[in-house]
Amino acid sequence: MMRRLIVGNWKMHKTVAQTAAFVDAFLEELLTLPDGIDLAIAPPFTALTIAGERLRGSGVGLAAQNMHWEPSGAFTGEIAAAMLAELGVTAVILGHSERRHLFGESDDAVNKKVHAALANGLTPIVCVGETLEERDAGNADARVGAQTRAALAGVQTRDLTKVVLAYEPVWAIGTGRNCGVDQADATMGAIRSSVAGLETVRILYGGSVKVENVASYAHAPNVNGALVGGASLDPAGFAALIRAADSQGTKA
Ligand code: PEP
Repeated sequence: MMRRLIVGNWKMHKTVAQTAAFVDAFLEELLTLPDGIDLAIAPPFTALTIAGERLRGSGVGLAAQNMHWEPSGAFTGEIAAAMLAELGVTAVILGHSERRHLFGESDDAVNKKVHAALANGLTPIVCVGETLEERDAGNADARVGAQTRAALAGVQTRDLTKVVLAYEPVWAIGTGRNCGVDQADATMGAIRSSVAGLETVRILYGGSVKVENVASYAHAPNVNGALVGGASLDPAGFAALIRAADSQGTKA
């Protein structure tokens, strides 16, 4: 039985004060955490400390949205894995399509970050996803398979279980246009079979997940949770989304 995971990716939203207010309201909304679903939020770097303080003891995890692969050095504007771990961060989103497309992050960089995260005890949440052109050309499975193999190159089989993957079709992120459940499940199956040893690795779906559609993904065999952007920014709304996912019960 694999536990599901729901992660809120806040992107570049919320100040320290707004983060404190969110966490207080969110924990108030979600007095009992759902059975069988792990939860985490990924605030901006500047709000990690306050989020960690307010989340302490709640059972809700703390994730970062990016990091550099080197432990230290002349990398202006970058953050190292150990700096995140020191703040109580336990997971880090890597290779998000906004990093890849807006900031030129390569497969090779994502791979180095995966190794650095694992070496520092952080769970890498590795995002893969095809563009609309790649989907329309019939290349979606090949694209996400190649991204997955590149991201996980050199990762020992015993470490694969520490990795989380997220399938986020680029055309479905922040567009309100989500990928159909069967379509998502099929592509996530392609991701799962692209590298040996991913049978028990959690794969999240991400792309305009909302309270209205989250439950529809719950029974898809290859979907083990969700990476949620816009719909994770409002505490009552995010709590309602989590309750909606939980209403489908735990699946094998
Ligand atoms: C994301 O940022 O990972 C994401 C899936 O965003 P949204 O839910 O807003 O599409």
